[in-house]
Amino acid sequence: MDFALTESQAILQDTMRDFAHQRLLPRYREWDRRAEFPAELWPRLGELGVFGMRVSEVHGGSDLSYLDAGLAIEQIARGDFNLCYGILNACFAGDLLSRFASPALCETWLRPLSAGRAVLCVALTEPHCGSDAAAIRTHAMPKGDGYVINGEKSAITLLMAGNAAIVFAKTAPELGAKGVSAFLVPLDLPGLTRTAYQDMGARAIKRGSLFLDNVYVPRTAMIGPENAGFTQVMQTFDYTRALIGLMCLGAAEQTLEETVEYVKGRKAFGAPVSKNQGVSFPLAEAKARLEMLRWLCYRTLWLRDQGLAHTVEAALCKAEGPALCADIIRDCLVLHGHYGYTQDYPVEQRYRDVLGQIIADGTPQIMKMIIAREMLGREFA
Ligand SMILES: Cc1cc2nc3c(=O)[nH]c(=O)nc-3n(C[C@H](O)[C@H](O)[C@H](O)COP(=O)(O)OP(=O)(O)OC[C@H]3O[C@@H](n4cnc5c(N)ncnc54)[C@H](O)[C@@H]3O)c2cc1C
Repeated sequence: MDFALTESQAILQDTMRDFAHQRLLPRYREWDRRAEFPAELWPRLGELGVFGMRVSEVHGGSDLSYLDAGLAIEQIARGDFNLCYGILNACFAGDLLSRFASPALCETWLRPLSAGRAVLCVALTEPHCGSDAAAIRTHAMPKGDGYVINGEKSAITLLMAGNAAIVFAKTAPELGAKGVSAFLVPLDLPGLTRTAYQDMGARAIKRGSLFLDNVYVPRTAMIGPENAGFTQVMQTFDYTRALIGLMCLGAAEQTLEETVEYVKGRKAFGAPVSKNQGVSFPLAEAKARLEMLRWLCYRTLWLRDQGLAHTVEAALCKAEGPALCADIIRDCLVLHGHYGYTQDYPVEQRYRDVLGQIIADGTPQIMKMIIAREMLGREFA
């Protein structure tokens, strides 16, 4: 067992931490207040390499390990949690396309994705179903040398800034989860309508819903074989769930460090408030819990790098990580007193931002179903 980072991993971590601290953190609150997609940062992040981490060098990426991508997203989240949605989507799309898509589709999309010139979204959820993803109603009917897609997708991260979406649709509705296929759908095709959401947090990344009315895509838009979409998405969630754990961890770690400084400087009853165990113990407990979360997430990604089973570990990261980090950030908010409730400090925004990740990519309840099924066996769970 070796817990040491390699030299290149340590350099990656330092580079990302410095960039996040110097370039992202100072403007984190500004994007939220303006509820504006930070378009100017996208090519800059592309140059930094964060969108191409799961893309091969042939297509302009850096083909880093799963763990490396986790190390990077943790550090970026310290500067701007919301930009991590872009990394998350790029890792999802990069991994999915690299593993399952045709060379032509990879050639068209992976280079712009890596460079930060194209934003790709994931469109699985529908107005009537999220947790029960196999119940989607969007369908793709064969027509000529392609398919006509009809349906409605909801809750799509980065939709309003997106250039294309990976749309999951039924190609054999009678087969349930085994009848779902994935399509790469450019968002400028006729028949598409986008509507923006007004979210409580992550306001800069512009979630929205997508209406598909007789949208024609060629056969070449399909990612992998017909009816393999559900398996593909579930395998890719095993990756992104660990990344989400680390993204929330980064935001909580940054908040914890800021809170340590705050409570050392703030005085009450003639002494720094940090002198009270009621203040210092929650900080110590947060440190312990974040350390546990970190190693759970790192190990999950390491298992994926080794090609070993990690579905349950990924569900553990997602079941506990975001909720734990939200609790820690809320405690830190209280330790800032009334200032924590103002927009003068980033803590209130981090709390709003992190909450969304408790729900995205599968709620804690659904994660616990996966874990319990493994512990008890399908027959008893
Ligand atoms: C910030 C954010 C970003 C997102 N980004 C995307 C995206 O990019 N693309 C995309 O496709 N989707 C996205 N989503 C949607 C997300 O994946 C779904 O919201 C999530 O899977 C839950 O589905 P739902 O909202 O339909 O809740 P429902 O499935 O309706 O569930 C409602 C509640 O019931 C609980 N529940 C449901 N079934 C069970 C059960 N069997 N046992 C116990 N409890 C149960 C759930 O845990 C939840 O608390 C995003 C969501 C958020 C908040």
